[in-house]
Amino acid sequence: MDDNLVIDLTDRGPTDVPCPYCGAGVLLSTFTQWAGRPLTTTTCPSCLRTLTVSTATWARWSNTADA
Ligand SMILES: [Zn+2]
Repeated sequence: MDDNLVIDLTDRGPTDVPCPYCGAGVLLSTFTQWAGRPLTTTTCPSCLRTLTVSTATWARWSNTADA
């Protein structure tokens, strides 16, 4: 399957993003840096799929969430 999908969502909440697989909210704070790559990754709490976003995208989301 496509577990390395890099998400670039624009439709999101202030502290979470919708899982592209099941639509459940995934908290930004659960993403962790992927060692050696400019990516962050987490596991959806609902469908348990691995979600991956670029570090730049994650940082942009987080900055927006803090604003
Ligand atoms: Zn999910």
